Amino acid sequence: MDVLLEIMEPGQSLLPHQTGPGMRKRVVGIDLGTTFSLVAAIGVAGTPLCIPDEEGHCALPSVVHYGEDQTILVGRAARERALTHPEATIASVKRYMGRGLADLSTQLSTIPHGLEAGEGGMVRIVAGSARVSPVEVSAEILKALKQRAEEALGGALHGVVITVPAYFDDAQRQATKDAARVAGLEVLRLLNEPTAAALAYGLDKGSEGLYAIYDLGGGTFDISLLKLEKEVFQVMATSGDSALGGDDLDQWLVRRIMQETGMEHPDPGWIQACRKVARTVKEQLSDQEQVEFSLPGAIGQTSRITRTEFETGIRELIRRTIPICRRVLKDAGVASEALQGVVLVGGSTRVPLVRRMVAEFFGREPLVDLDPDQVVALGAAHQAETLAGNAPAEMLLLDVTPLSLGIETMGDLVEKIIPRNAPIPTARAQDFTTFQDGQTAMAIHVVQGERELASQCRSLARFELRGIPPMTAGAARIRVTYQVDADGLLTVSAQEETTGVAQSIAVKPSYGLTDDEIADMLQEAMRHGEADLLARLFNEAKVEADRVLAAAGAALREDGDLLNENELQRVKGAMQTLWEATQGESADLIQERIQKMDQETRFFAQRRMDRSLQQAMTGRKVDDFA
Ligand code: ADP
Ligand code: MG
Repeated sequence: MDVLLEIMEPGQSLLPHQTGPGMRKRVVGIDLGTTFSLVAAIGVAGTPLCIPDEEGHCALPSVVHYGEDQTILVGRAARERALTHPEATIASVKRYMGRGLADLSTQLSTIPHGLEAGEGGMVRIVAGSARVSPVEVSAEILKALKQRAEEALGGALHGVVITVPAYFDDAQRQATKDAARVAGLEVLRLLNEPTAAALAYGLDKGSEGLYAIYDLGGGTFDISLLKLEKEVFQVMATSGDSALGGDDLDQWLVRRIMQETGMEHPDPGWIQACRKVARTVKEQLSDQEQVEFSLPGAIGQTSRITRTEFETGIRELIRRTIPICRRVLKDAGVASEALQGVVLVGGSTRVPLVRRMVAEFFGREPLVDLDPDQVVALGAAHQAETLAGNAPAEMLLLDVTPLSLGIETMGDLVEKIIPRNAPIPTARAQDFTTFQDGQTAMAIHVVQGERELASQCRSLARFELRGIPPMTAGAARIRVTYQVDADGLLTVSAQEETTGVAQSIAVKPSYGLTDDEIADMLQEAMRHGEADLLARLFNEAKVEADRVLAAAGAALREDGDLLNENELQRVKGAMQTLWEATQGESADLIQERIQKMDQETRFFAQRRMDRSLQQAMTGRKVDDFA
């Protein structure tokens, strides 16, 4: 039995997208944020829109209140309760997702409610008389958004795309998925927040290159570098400050107000009220040059602040994001001029000073056409639409194969069927044929990795396609299909097209490979890149030479009588020198000798053709031309 011989170029994608009239599915995108959460869906105009609550607010404060009477409040109402019942109100639960108590020890002092170690050391929150996990709290936020969306869209949701920070680890992502399950939502995909922002801007349809996503939210700063290549975004580098955001700007204003009122030891209720005023004033200063406001707790007393004073006060805070941006560029080894664009995300990027500083650092105006606090949810809605099959499949991306998936062909070579970083789900097919006359079985060896030789890649599976009817070499047409589903599960099938004989096998590719192992394999491939390429070229040339030699041998056996002794020696001599080259190490030499042999034996080929034609005309061996 022999292995495969490739006869067709890497194939077209086979995966049809299931769209059909009346099949539009009700799906939404959810930005489950630290301070605010949003839900968005594709509107009638085909563009995504955020779904507001009854009062017209899109952003739902990510705050949950557990009442003494077992009632649970979410959003604005819960935030109000924080003023009177801070110990029973949970804000910023996203920080606790997938985290153990030990991970949070530094934050304990600033949290008004209790935290304790729950199952497996995971954080449990003590909110008043309730004891809840972060997953349950997040689920309450998701339930509120689910209800809002179902009312707006007029029916049960088919599925959601939920965004998570690019740096979220497996435990944090799993916790997010669990929260969705508790809320009764089907997660179509978790999507990285910066990627969602890029999708909202339609950058996936734009030019390939690098994009920076600058996200300054309520309590966190994140900067991500995305690389767009063949309509797929990869997160190249990410960094940030998990304790820097709009809350700190509020805090500066709170201190300013405290100084003004001479308040030295304010009670927690006053501080909460003051924070609320501060946030409003700050947000107004994004549009107004100066703001007048009532001082909290002092009826009738007002104060005023100019944008200039505010900017002077917060400049150092905003400046802290710049070295982080610089480091991310450095990590990825790119200069800011190399960027294709900069996207602003997060409510705090509405602050004009932030925009100016970002523009100055990156040396270009950032993209700000979309609402920075909605952009993540809008992108998630876009992706949900695509995953549900409501939109064309051109954007079916975002999860990619970590390593190439290939098949072993003659000469220990690897034919890559699905390349590294291919968006999944995907399916690709390639046709192969038999190498020897009468070959009735084929070994299919599925390998993963970037190296050029099969023996140096990781072997994933082997199976055999049996029952191929005996045919001459090259007559059988074996279509091998690789299909990777959205969870990364690979199925390989092979079918002989003329007879329909088929085999298939399911393999789990990246499972069992840690990120480190993947990184090692990539490094290995890069280190060996050149040597591999040479080995590949040589092996390819050798396979070609073997085929030429085999064909010449067969021709001599069949039509050797067409040659006189002299001519026979000439042909044999050319075969001999070619064979000798295959014993060496140079691909170039083999190619050169193949060409030489082709020239030397052309007269023989011509005579054989003449003979066949004559035979055909006299009615013999007509079948040979069928
Ligand atoms: P997160 O992603 O952390 O949940 P968001 O992106 O929704 O947060 O950003 C919330 C922050 O944006 C809050 O601190 C809020 O006060 C601030 N913000 C919202 N609108 C404005 C505005 N117009 N000007 C300044 N800050 C704003
Ligand atoms: Mg956010």
